[in-house]
Amino acid sequence: MSDFLDGGCLCGAVRYRARGRPEHRMICHCKTCQRAAGSPVVAWVTFPAESFDFVQGDPVRFQSSPPVIRTFCGVCGTPLTYVHSQAAEAVDVTTCSFDEPDSLPPTHHSWLQDSVSWVRFGDGLPTYPTTRSEGS
Ligand SMILES: [Zn+2]
Ligand SMILES: [Zn+2]
Repeated sequence: MSDFLDGGCLCGAVRYRARGRPEHRMICHCKTCQRAAGSPVVAWVTFPAESFDFVQGDPVRFQSSPPVIRTFCGVCGTPLTYVHSQAAEAVDVTTCSFDEPDSLPPTHHSWLQDSVSWVRFGDGLPTYPTTRSEGS
């Protein structure tokens, strides 16, 4: 296993590198992710902020809610990262912007209370109404 996990946006303008392995891997069903990605769910992995760097291009920064900064490629629009100001030591990165998302399978689903009604997963993973830390 490489010490690095590389990824970037669809058009290639923005590239990033994460070191080590992610602390968390999940699929988010929240309304903000839905709208930010135009997608029913968004898969995320979490790294320590000091283990993640943009190495090419400058993503656009967007404040998606008062404490949250999301980034995306200003050319092609790929959602890239999420940082919450109360947990700024961690950065969430969209799993499927990595070059090898198969190596980063999710462990659970979060924010099922916001889920689009027709979304059905048969993966058998645990689901949580909001966040895993707030229990089921
Ligand atoms: Zn791009
Ligand atoms: Zn979300």
